[in-house]
Amino acid sequence: MGVSRAVVLFTRDLRAHDHPALAAARAEQTEVVQLFVLDERLLRIGTRRTAYLHGRLDALREAIGLQVVEGDPVEAVARFAPDTVHVSADVSAYARRRAQQLAGRPSYRVFTPYWHVWRAMPLPAPVESGPKLPVPDASLSTHLHLGAVSPAELARAADEELLRNLCWRDFFAQLLAADPALEWRDLHPGRRTWNEDPEAFAAWKEGRTGVDYVDAAMRQLLAEGFIPSRPRMIAASYLTKQLGVDWRLGAAHFMEHLTDGDVATNSGNWQWVAGTGTDTRPNRQFNPERQAATHDADESYRRRWLPERFEPQPEALFE
Ligand SMILES: Cc1cc2nc3c(=O)[nH]c(=O)nc-3n(C[C@H](O)[C@H](O)[C@H](O)COP(=O)(O)OP(=O)(O)OC[C@H]3O[C@@H](n4cnc5c(N)ncnc54)[C@H](O)[C@@H]3O)c2cc1C
Repeated sequence: MGVSRAVVLFTRDLRAHDHPALAAARAEQTEVVQLFVLDERLLRIGTRRTAYLHGRLDALREAIGLQVVEGDPVEAVARFAPDTVHVSADVSAYARRRAQQLAGRPSYRVFTPYWHVWRAMPLPAPVESGPKLPVPDASLSTHLHLGAVSPAELARAADEELLRNLCWRDFFAQLLAADPALEWRDLHPGRRTWNEDPEAFAAWKEGRTGVDYVDAAMRQLLAEGFIPSRPRMIAASYLTKQLGVDWRLGAAHFMEHLTDGDVATNSGNWQWVAGTGTDTRPNRQFNPERQAATHDADESYRRRWLPERFEPQPEALFE
């Protein structure tokens, strides 16, 4: 009897535990090749994300013998002459299972009905597939982006607020899966016209608009590749609604610098904020000062990123 061989092609599921494709291959095949193919498109992603990716690949190489090769994924897989190939979807297996369960319906363009259907579905059961590797120090969203953390595992332990956030992630994933052009094309074309204002855009990118909450967020992005949810939304809203700059420019800047940069989530949120996407109140405007007073009441976030605006300057002491 011949030996059956499976290739498990790792993509954005860079973990060994709770990994349905790996578990399925191990259950069915005698020999399992665990493979990651670095192709050129991946090497073009933001520098911070590339560093995280290489760290993760090293950890998996050591822990489970992941083979990492460069080249074209189809050719690389073919070289192993496998009997079967197991691949998780580009969006997580968890999101894909849900998307499959939701299949047969058109994609959802409004969050609340999607949330009701999503919430009513059972969470997937854990699967045995390998050891749980430690993750480096990074935000929750960065680990999710490359699948180092299992979204299903996270969901099983989540409170209602986190579940809702995870559902937003799947919501934007199903939207992009249904129409990949939404990465750059308006979901609702014609709702907005944009200003050409390179100076305003440059000031926004560098954190010198003069609006503290926005500038703090943009400086954190350049320094750390991360912005928490609320200031991220306010910085994006300020660019599109107050400055009238095209959301695509802001989205590209975020993708260049965010460690958790994720096409579906990033473009989906930018469109939501800009009013071209899934917000049912596309003309809503956030007042950055009022938002800061509510969400950064002790000023700690703004003080951290704009110390010169909050601490007395030496000259000022002698005036
Ligand atoms: C303009 C804009 C761009 C964004 N771009 C990205 C991006 O490229 N990658 C990314 O992961 N998140 C993005 N977000 C969503 C959100 O800001 C980050 O997920 C969040 O700041 C990460 O913080 P956390 O890890 O503490 O997640 P928590 O707030 O604890 O949420 C847990 C997880 O839920 C998901 N989530 C939370 N909020 C959202 C949301 N609004 N939409 C979709 N999923 C959500 C994320 O996977 C997140 O890691 C963006 C939001 C805005 C307004």
